[in-house]
Amino acid sequence: MEPTIFYTDGSKSDDSIATSAGVVLEGSTTAYSISLPRECFSFTAEAFAIKAVLDIIYNEFVSVKKDVIIFSDCQAVIKAINNNEINVYKNMYIVESRKRLFEINNKMDKNIIIVWTPAHIGVVGNEVADRMAKEGSKEEILQGDIVVPLLDVRSLFRQNMWNNTQSTIVQNSRAVGTSYFKNFYNPAMNKPWFAEFDEERAFVTFVNRLRSNHYNLNESLARKGYVDSARCDCGYEIEDVDHVIWRCSKYDETRIRLDLEFRSRGIFDENSIFTWIKRGRWTAVRIVYNFFRSINRVI
Ligand SMILES: [Zn+2]
Repeated sequence: MEPTIFYTDGSKSDDSIATSAGVVLEGSTTAYSISLPRECFSFTAEAFAIKAVLDIIYNEFVSVKKDVIIFSDCQAVIKAINNNEINVYKNMYIVESRKRLFEINNKMDKNIIIVWTPAHIGVVGNEVADRMAKEGSKEEILQGDIVVPLLDVRSLFRQNMWNNTQSTIVQNSRAVGTSYFKNFYNPAMNKPWFAEFDEERAFVTFVNRLRSNHYNLNESLARKGYVDSARCDCGYEIEDVDHVIWRCSKYDETRIRLDLEFRSRGIFDENSIFTWIKRGRWTAVRIVYNFFRSINRVI
């Protein structure tokens, strides 16, 4: 007997007003698009979509066949659903999905498997689910309709920890975190990156600010509306971290020492500080940190 096939997808983009989930049932003309609060990670949307399918199977679809395949393009969510470890920070939709799966396995005569399918390789159902998810992300939803999982909220706060007030966080929420999610967000990581890191607080703060792309240079400040222009005092259009490190003419003299320091440590690739942080090249990052101290810039 042919299995019943569902495709799920989650969507979150920089310019959308909501995070959203899409669900498609193969062979059906109906597809679902659900909008979630924009604070939700795409991981949450992916988990929500799978949970929605399990709810459909459990509550509505008597016609669902014995064998059910649910396709998702999010390996992290599939892993989380299959992981037995109990963790208070486990995403609530993962927890609910596991509960639903358990109920279905116990009460209903069905075999459900959740299978990973790579995104955007032209699997039709997956493409439709993706389109449905994108549709959902254009719709504004009423806050409070769908609960934002604890971990999403916690991370939102952590990356803004130097913005002391919640109102700042809310104001900035449109621009917040996009770079962080793109470069560093790892749903499988449940400890902060510096957990096993014996470094002084100021260094950790320095790296945290760069990781979240919020720092005290004109490029970042202009992005948040604190200063009018991203321009550097030296005349260059954008004062960002890499400009200050590699090119700003104001620091040419200090840069000679920086260069010597890199060479003495065998570091020859002139790379973006963000790449070094991402790759955990702490010796190089530490040299850059010392460079900022020596030019008296606290960023
Ligand atoms: Zn400059």
